[in-house]
Amino acid sequence: MSLLVSEIFYSIQGEGPNVGKPAVFLRLAGCNLRCKWCDSKFTWNNQSSNSKFQTKSNVQVSISKILQQIRKYKCKHLVITGGEPTLQQDALIPLLERLNGYYIEIETNGSVKLKINKYLEQINCSPKLKSSGNPPYSLMIKPTNRKAVYKFVVAKKSDLKEIEKYIKSNKIPTDKVWLMPEGVNKKVVQERSKWIIEICKKNGYNFSPRLHVMLWGNKRSV
Ligand code: SF4
Repeated sequence: MSLLVSEIFYSIQGEGPNVGKPAVFLRLAGCNLRCKWCDSKFTWNNQSSNSKFQTKSNVQVSISKILQQIRKYKCKHLVITGGEPTLQQDALIPLLERLNGYYIEIETNGSVKLKINKYLEQINCSPKLKSSGNPPYSLMIKPTNRKAVYKFVVAKKSDLKEIEKYIKSNKIPTDKVWLMPEGVNKKVVQERSKWIIEICKKNGYNFSPRLHVMLWGNKRSV
């Protein structure tokens, strides 16, 4: 059994409720969406003849090799991200079964029903709205799931109207909402953070920084 992997690295969580925590990142290749501002296009846009997303950096890696790489770090906090990692969740199960004692969180766009809920401590669901350029889709990670939080990417003040409508129609409690600035450079993220924080203060949402962008810009594996 293997997974199509884009990268495995050790860093700190840069987004969401666990921001600042040291974590091992397992980034899987492939995504079912095409966000126009995607900051990890390398996980899905370099197709070759071998396999749909197989590239020099996206390669099939056996579960035992992945485990070896994860266990190489002393940290027992794992972030599974992508791309859209739930597209490979059947193949993820044998890996998750062998990660006893790990705190595991997943980053997902919420378009796929989860089969791996019991292995996870936290689900960071980031629904992609109209501003992402994708057609609308149903939210498959329901707010009744106590592990789920919802992270919305905000680029312009006008995005807020759609986010508010979405939160209301999907019955997402405000304390489960995180607003995060869109941007791949420090200047843009910093400028947007200021007005997004004011919106969070006004509405009782949580603010998520993009710590990795503030520190390292658009660099990979950090
Ligand atoms: S869902 Fe995530 S990985 Fe997929 S295109 Fe959008 S931002 Fe990129």
